[in-house]
Amino acid sequence: MNAKRRPLIAGNWKMFCGGTTGVELAMAIAPLARDAKGVDIVIAPPFTVLAACANELEASGIEVAAQNMHAKDSGAYTGEVSPTMLAESGCSWVIVGHSERRQHFGETDAHIAEKVHAAFRHNLKPIVCVGETLAERESGLALAVVARQVAAFVEHLVEHVGHGVIAYEPVWAIGTGKNAGPAEAEEVHAAIRNQLEKCAPSLGDNTRILYGGSVKPDNAAALFAAPNVDGALVGGASLDAKAFGAIARTAASATR
Ligand code: PEP
Repeated sequence: MNAKRRPLIAGNWKMFCGGTTGVELAMAIAPLARDAKGVDIVIAPPFTVLAACANELEASGIEVAAQNMHAKDSGAYTGEVSPTMLAESGCSWVIVGHSERRQHFGETDAHIAEKVHAAFRHNLKPIVCVGETLAERESGLALAVVARQVAAFVEHLVEHVGHGVIAYEPVWAIGTGKNAGPAEAEEVHAAIRNQLEKCAPSLGDNTRILYGGSVKPDNAAALFAAPNVDGALVGGASLDAKAFGAIARTAASATR
């Protein structure tokens, strides 16, 4: 981590905890904000409990993200949720381009760029996910794939320096228990920062780049010691308030 940037720990609940268990989880996470001073904490529950969680967390300092959204403000798009609706639900963040969206729902770099643009239009801060598959890594293409994914949306970050976040999530590390080691993560994070700096001098220093992929309390400290890792996007471990809290506290101690 680097003192220039405030750490961010975001929890992606995926398609879990959509009812009363979601509100209970939000309530269990709420006291964590007090224990992880200097760290921004964001949770991304399913759509069905976004408003309830935002309401529950109102005074806690923890903010709420959606896991996805449609790029249009409104319209005949059955089953979709617009950025306007997210803002009305109390969201201030949105995860865009998660690899599960790219893999199972056909999202392309172009869709993702459109969503990043739409998020900023509605004052939603996007956490934009990038990352290579195992086959791409094994073919030596990891840096090229990530550079292409970042290039697709970077112009929108330039217009809103400091408000967009990138999450580097190697697809082979998501939900598998295998995480990129700190050196592997740092190599990609440094390359992304370099790419951002080339687009606009202030963009590199002011964009938080999170690592995601099987982050747990026992591997977080080593990842956060890497200078270009500014926090984590946490999947599985964010469903356990104690584990999520431990990761947030590790981020708080990494900045001291
Ligand atoms: C994720 O879903 O973004 C993620 C990183 O999941 P996990 O922590 O379970 O690998």
